[in-house]
Amino acid sequence: MKCIVCGINDAYKFGRCRDCLSNEIKLKTEKMEITECPKCGSVRLNKKWYYNNIDENIKRNAISHIKTEKTDKIKSVNSLKILDDNILMDLIVDDRNLGEIEKEISIDLKVTKESCPVCNKVTGSYYEGVIQLRTFTTEYDNVIDDAKDKIIDFIKNINKTDPNSFVSKVDKLKEGLDIYLGKKEDAIKIDKIMEENYFSTVKITKSIAGRKDGKDLFRYTHLIRILDLMAGSVIYDKLYYMVKAITPNNIELLDIKNNSLLNLNSKDFFRKSFNVIHRIPEKDKFIVISNNGNETQLMNSKNYKIITVRQLFNSPEIYLYKYNEKYFSL
Ligand SMILES: [Zn+2]
Ligand SMILES: [Zn+2]
Repeated sequence: MKCIVCGINDAYKFGRCRDCLSNEIKLKTEKMEITECPKCGSVRLNKKWYYNNIDENIKRNAISHIKTEKTDKIKSVNSLKILDDNILMDLIVDDRNLGEIEKEISIDLKVTKESCPVCNKVTGSYYEGVIQLRTFTTEYDNVIDDAKDKIIDFIKNINKTDPNSFVSKVDKLKEGLDIYLGKKEDAIKIDKIMEENYFSTVKITKSIAGRKDGKDLFRYTHLIRILDLMAGSVIYDKLYYMVKAITPNNIELLDIKNNSLLNLNSKDFFRKSFNVIHRIPEKDKFIVISNNGNETQLMNSKNYKIITVRQLFNSPEIYLYKYNEKYFSL
């Protein structure tokens, strides 16, 4: 059966062909404007910049530029194609009398290129916060690079959903690294990551960076000091201590004189004023020779001298840490 309207095509629904059905749907369109950032591809639609789900946002915006008659409703978009000066869409329109009808439309489009606010920030080396990574001894150590990698990974990850989170630069200094952050709130999150991973402390200071809309703009500096000691390091604060073990939230110290143990969290540790006597431990390897139940004979693997210690060991070879010619087992 031929179409009752055009008499040419085969009838599809209500005696009409697809083309004639489509022609009964009247849609009006308004010109659409898109501003695109040539650097990152983000788009501005109705004054708002979109950095994620760009296709989805363009689609929604395009639909809002289509006016239907009262009896019609746009049900879905089968395809959307952006050309230089128009957008082509295949729609399914739900018409009160005819049901679902396929409809092709074209929306006039004007695309302008403009760098987005985030790219302006990045190219302008904008920053709101600085992370200063330092060690406890103030010497540059691998732990600083390790911490930097964690920070960069973290920022890269949140940048996927928040373009204002970015690292605008990293300065390498003799004593550590300065990491400049686009967003001050990220510095607080970084403090927490550092605290969870390292025995460390943070000191936050703020300074006025300028004024905007009648308000002071602040920049925040987070000085993070990571403990770069190890088992066998010797430190001093009224008494001499040998470091026994370090975890992110505790340091165990051996009071050398009294042979007692002191546990400190990072807050208490950094509040004291420890001096580093030596960071790199002096240690010697010993071979276990014999034990008599509570004492062990050990032989120094270098000079073959035999010593006796009041301790039992499980392994045939052990390390003892030396300070002032005395050996300590940690
Ligand atoms: Zn027809
Ligand atoms: Zn951009």
